[in-house]
Amino acid sequence: MLTVVCAWKSPLFKQTWQEVYFAETPVLIESDDWGPGATLHAQRLLQLLVCLETHKDSVARAAVLTADIVLSVPDIDKIMADPDGAYHRKLLNEVSPSIYQAMLLGIKQGVLVPQLHGLEHLNGEAFARLCQHKDPRIEGALADAQQWCWETLESPLQGHYVDGSVLPTQPISQEQAEALIALAARRFTELFGYPSLSTVAPCYLWNSAIEKLWQENEISVIQTAGYRCDGRDKQGAYHQDLSLIRAGELSEFGQVYLVRNVMYEPVDGHTNVHSAYQAALSAYAQALPISISTHRYNYTRTEEEFQNALQGLDQLLTAIGTSITALRFLSSPELGEQLAQESVGVVNHFNDSQWLPLKRLSGIKKLAPFLRRLYYRHPKLVLLAYLSGLIIPAGLVCRYSR
Ligand SMILES: [Zn+2]
Repeated sequence: MLTVVCAWKSPLFKQTWQEVYFAETPVLIESDDWGPGATLHAQRLLQLLVCLETHKDSVARAAVLTADIVLSVPDIDKIMADPDGAYHRKLLNEVSPSIYQAMLLGIKQGVLVPQLHGLEHLNGEAFARLCQHKDPRIEGALADAQQWCWETLESPLQGHYVDGSVLPTQPISQEQAEALIALAARRFTELFGYPSLSTVAPCYLWNSAIEKLWQENEISVIQTAGYRCDGRDKQGAYHQDLSLIRAGELSEFGQVYLVRNVMYEPVDGHTNVHSAYQAALSAYAQALPISISTHRYNYTRTEEEFQNALQGLDQLLTAIGTSITALRFLSSPELGEQLAQESVGVVNHFNDSQWLPLKRLSGIKKLAPFLRRLYYRHPKLVLLAYLSGLIIPAGLVCRYSR
């Protein structure tokens, strides 16, 4: 029976076996949408960073926030005054200097690593057009340009590399994409002193042409939720053009994909410390990185919501730290570099700190996490294992490993 299953599933087994298995578990905290905002955000960010500082890994490095940065917001007054209807933006350091300074402090202390999210979290051309037409969908922006936040836009309008003003969404033109990405890369480096080697697209909407431009602008690591969406259909539903991405796989242009596998978004009400902890343990059992997704809005709303989110994150990191002794806090670009190449030191390029490379599992030590990857990913294979009795030896291997 074993011979038949091995022969039938040989390519899958081979591919899964050749993936990277970590002996030291990388733990990432990925937080989207940091950027211009209310002054309050600076204080909240600093408190969040103080909490991270109290959690240390096996090499005494503090937990680090990969802050996915939105570099600018629309300059609504300028857009409205422009007779040509062009888009205008205000940069993070101009519009929210205290938030920018809080970020720089976090970078210096090594508890924040910035990563490009987008030049803005909307489509500039579409936004300017809606302004000219005084479209009701941007009523809030026109009523109070100073206080308004892009997070209040309806979801299709928050995409950056697509135009979602009419559904189905349309990808932006090549010319527009080239200009946006080149400018974002330049501004990011000016603001943070080093290029963004990694990125995550606003609303997880991007395509292969965008990846090529990222690659031409030094972006060698792409953060995902395990799939790529190139647009939204007539009803607004997401369309996946890559439906299954594994951490460590390479894009068409050689970029390393990362995958978020732990959701901790308490403000949404769908996830909590317990569910996030269970997902983290599942990743650990498979010798995978633990990538926690926790958006800015969990920390920037009411004081009660903030305290709840912060205490929960603290509990989650404590629980992970208690269960996993060989854990390493990393940022996304660092994990990308570790996946791309074995035995190179971990380098935080933003403050020049360095640590030992991440240890990997090899040979027979990979067997238990390999079996668990198959178990979690392939239900039909699991059924076959039960029917054939192969589940018993496989279960014993997993039970008596770490
Ligand atoms: Zn976002």
